[in-house]
Amino acid sequence: MSDFEIKGWCPGALRPMRSGDGFVVRVRAPKNRLTQSQIAQISDLSMRYGNGILDVSSRANLQIRGVQDDTHLALIKGLRALGLIDETVDLESRRNIVMTPFWQSGDQTEQLATVILNTLASSDYPQTPGKFGIAIDTGPTSILRDVSADIRIERCADGLICLADGATHGRLVNLDNVANAICELAHWFIAAGGVTDGRGRMRALVQNGVELPVAYRAALATQVVAETPEIGVYPEGAMVGLPFGQLHAEILKQLSELGGLRLTPWRMLLLENVNSMPDLEGILTDPSDPHQDIIACTGLPACPQAKGNTRRLGTQLIPHLAGKSPVHISGCAKGCAQPFGTATTLIMTDTEHFDVIEHGTIRDTIDHPHLTLDALLAQPPSPFKRP
Ligand code: SF4
Repeated sequence: MSDFEIKGWCPGALRPMRSGDGFVVRVRAPKNRLTQSQIAQISDLSMRYGNGILDVSSRANLQIRGVQDDTHLALIKGLRALGLIDETVDLESRRNIVMTPFWQSGDQTEQLATVILNTLASSDYPQTPGKFGIAIDTGPTSILRDVSADIRIERCADGLICLADGATHGRLVNLDNVANAICELAHWFIAAGGVTDGRGRMRALVQNGVELPVAYRAALATQVVAETPEIGVYPEGAMVGLPFGQLHAEILKQLSELGGLRLTPWRMLLLENVNSMPDLEGILTDPSDPHQDIIACTGLPACPQAKGNTRRLGTQLIPHLAGKSPVHISGCAKGCAQPFGTATTLIMTDTEHFDVIEHGTIRDTIDHPHLTLDALLAQPPSPFKRP
């Protein structure tokens, strides 16, 4: 039995998750995008009804922290006025999409997102498990393969392709039939036995060898190794990092003066149409900043399931990092912040100790149990400087 709680659902705004510092209200921005006015007002709402701390989640959602029982309703009312709240919890939990930030008007990505959002809200789309999601990865190259999703829309040699996560082949789609394709695949996932006790993911079903419908074996997906983009200036805007994925509402307010923003799943924000790095405290603008190499979940004191303070450990480790290999620090064995493998995974076992897994995911065998920081640094794995 695990020593952490598996909820099997993703928290949202209407059904927030209780954490050590109050409720975490997850705002699922449609198309992962917020306008200047929305950003400024979210900043105000977060200071008025939360504790002014915000996170960007690994699914490109913005989380307002520190919301209390007696402020949640007022916050929802404020967010609803900004067009960011769904009619029902079911609708909110279905509207689980992550979209490449590298889209440009005219490349069909935004139109695809409009069609997919309408489809998820329609009665044709089945009620899938809470974590079931769709990646719209139709920028110049596919960059979301390492981001959790069950159905993927990408580009391939012959056009747009709809893929089950984990499959090498898919069905060619266009704006007219993409709604039908995602409905068909979601219904197939359920009928093929993808859901047990309300939970299940597409990749597990595909990897179990369950054969996809013929139409989803017809076109070959592009073979890509997804690489996390770096901090920098891109044609679509300036990509800035957030230390440990977090920012203060005051900084968000300052960002609202620069332009709209696109939320990403990599603890970064893309500031639309900004063509030079902003000079602001509290954000990362240097691509070699070592904060980018630490992936840390919430940890203590804000997460009640945490065994230790992940961000404090991350700050202690930063001077010892040798290169660009990511280090995942998890406050418990649940691994919320990083479902995929990293060069080093540290799982806190108490406030001073952690288990270490080298070159694996949080589910892999522990290589070095119950180390202290000093013990790790005495015989450091490859991402760290040698003594
Ligand atoms: S992985 Fe981190 S954020 Fe997730 S439950 Fe464990 S301590 Fe909390």
